[in-house]
Amino acid sequence: MITTKDLTKVYRSRGREVTALDGVDLHVRPGEVYGVVGTSGAGKSTLIRCVNMLERPTSGSVTVDGVDLTALPGGENRAGRELREARRRIGMVFQHFNLLSARTAQENVELPLEIIGLDRTERRRKAAELLDLVGLSDRAGSYPAQLSGGQKQRVGIARALAGDPKVLLSDEATSALDPETTRSILALLRDLNRQLGLTVLLITHEMDVIKSVCDSAALMRGGRIVESGALTDLLATGGSQLARDLFPLGEFGSGQPGRTVLEITFQGDAPAQPFVSQLARTYQIDINILGAAVETIGGRMVGRMRVELPGGHGENVVPIGYLREQGLQVDVIDTTGAAA
Ligand code: ADP
Repeated sequence: MITTKDLTKVYRSRGREVTALDGVDLHVRPGEVYGVVGTSGAGKSTLIRCVNMLERPTSGSVTVDGVDLTALPGGENRAGRELREARRRIGMVFQHFNLLSARTAQENVELPLEIIGLDRTERRRKAAELLDLVGLSDRAGSYPAQLSGGQKQRVGIARALAGDPKVLLSDEATSALDPETTRSILALLRDLNRQLGLTVLLITHEMDVIKSVCDSAALMRGGRIVESGALTDLLATGGSQLARDLFPLGEFGSGQPGRTVLEITFQGDAPAQPFVSQLARTYQIDINILGAAVETIGGRMVGRMRVELPGGHGENVVPIGYLREQGLQVDVIDTTGAAA
């Protein structure tokens, strides 16, 4: 649904060049919620702004719903019409809502409908329907200053849906909200994704956002995507940084020589198996549990455990093989936490 190929964006200001995007290949499938995560300055905002062409990339291409946006001319004149129409099919939600303070919730949602030239009755009907969809019918006549952060964001989402988009882009939509409101807005995005078949691309610096709503994710660093994929695949990938960030387990082992630290990831039915006690019994070894947690990620139950076995890696080849035979993902890690 959204594909970028070798996307590059170089900003030039006061004789300085900043490469904000450095060859980004992104692939978002129809109907999925895709999260891009990374620290500040990684290039996330630039990426999302290039996807809807608020920012023209320096090179590379952006295709949304089969249309190569980078091939279309811009501008406010006739030549730019095709691009404007394609962009209308891409909704955008902002961190600070970007509502007009002198307009009511209803009038804010009507704004994009005015721009496309819908008549007044039709505008009202459509805006009322959208406010209902985001659970805000009773606040249609309120001005932004009379609404809570979560309510303002609901208006922002209703406005983003006015052009019947197939794709919704969200730029840190929950970063200005408290945890409870964040949860309700994320649940709304998930519902819209399911009900309307809307593809959602969101950027965030919060792992919890990725964990609670995303099907797939990409980790950005220095203008590049360093890791990406479906969450369940990432969790099953040895040494995945995203999997670690999604599922932090705290301290790494005792650091003592002659011990082997394993990270074990289990999904689906595997948590039901008492594999630690089985392993201890079968091989007569003392297993030290360093950390463990079970969470729901991408709607699936996933567990992770860090354990320490006596003896070096070479002495534990057989027990490690045993665990893998049980369908468990096993990473042998060194004392710095890197996959060995
Ligand atoms: P993120 O959203 O991950 O915090 P950004 O996409 O905002 O990252 O920024 C990526 C890099 O591009 C940063 O080094 C930032 O300073 C730079 N940058 C972003 N926008 C501009 C701009 N309009 N002009 C110059 N540099 C910019």
